[in-house]
Amino acid sequence: MPTTVLVTGGAGFIGSHTCVELLTHGYDVVVVDDHSNSSPHALERVAKTAGRPVTAAYETDLRDRRALNAVFDAHRVDAVIHFAARKAVGESVQIPVAYYDTNVGGTTALLAAMEQHDVRRLVFSSSCSVYGDATKVPLTEADPVAPTNPYATTKLLCERITGDVCRRLPGLSVLALRYFNPVGAHPSGHLGEDPRGVPNNVMPYLAQVAVGRRDRLRVFGDDYPTPDGTGVRDYIHVMDVAEGHRVALEHLDDEHGMRVFNLGTGTGTSVLELLAAFSAACGREIPHEITGRRPGDVPALVADPGAVARAWGWTTRRDLTDMCRDAWRFQELNPSGYPG
Ligand code: UDP
Repeated sequence: MPTTVLVTGGAGFIGSHTCVELLTHGYDVVVVDDHSNSSPHALERVAKTAGRPVTAAYETDLRDRRALNAVFDAHRVDAVIHFAARKAVGESVQIPVAYYDTNVGGTTALLAAMEQHDVRRLVFSSSCSVYGDATKVPLTEADPVAPTNPYATTKLLCERITGDVCRRLPGLSVLALRYFNPVGAHPSGHLGEDPRGVPNNVMPYLAQVAVGRRDRLRVFGDDYPTPDGTGVRDYIHVMDVAEGHRVALEHLDDEHGMRVFNLGTGTGTSVLELLAAFSAACGREIPHEITGRRPGDVPALVADPGAVARAWGWTTRRDLTDMCRDAWRFQELNPSGYPG
């Protein structure tokens, strides 16, 4: 069982919640984060929430190989969880080179450092976007992949590269987790999603409308072939995602090589359903308007979470009400996000 876990992107949304989950379950955590889309303050919140701090935090870009090797030299790392990446679909269409550079270059640099330091366990942060314009829901891991934007392509490339490395290094164990739509916050309200600038994703946008930072939610299209015409997604509570990573660590040694799992709930929710659930959570009607479709969006993405349930005996525990309540609590307690 791994005891010291290196978390790349540990100050980010999913990373910070995973750090709390690991710390409260006795793991020692080393964080590497360049803070390009996260606040160092998040790690103070992690320490406060978990009751103990991470062992060390390095402000480092993974592609800085000298700095990355120094991190591996300084700690006996048992396993790596690799979150650090650019993640905005629309932006990836505008600046694809930066996406390939950061996401693929960061992953290859990490794999090289792991090989050099004989670290053989990796949990990789992949995405349901690799399925592209899904022809059916729910999606199993065996369904075809067909990325529709550079962000999704970087995630698929990283899966492929890691798979190739596994064939070359027989002792390597990799779990690639394809998350659906992580939302919500730690139930304490101390830790949550704090995007820089205008939120790209629907949940932080809704929360900022609710707290008065934005005037209304723009619903991107109501003419999709879905029950109410708005996009359907599989929202998953970030604490379930964090827990999924902790459980994944326990299963890295089940077998060598690369395995891919969906991380979702299996329940689809439309934008209008999400809007209603969030309005109920914050006790007021969230203003919205229907606008045109967002380029690159697909009608519906919902996970079949069966494979992970069969492999690990683990399922998500939190529902849409929990997700909205916790996202709202964080926003209400931190109307302008983290300080600084
Ligand atoms: N969406 C929306 N308004 C927004 C942001 C998103 O209507 O301001 C919709 C989007 O079209 C999709 C769903 O909300 O149907 C989830 O989008 P998000 O960007 O949160 O996640 P994605 O599924 O694109 O990764």
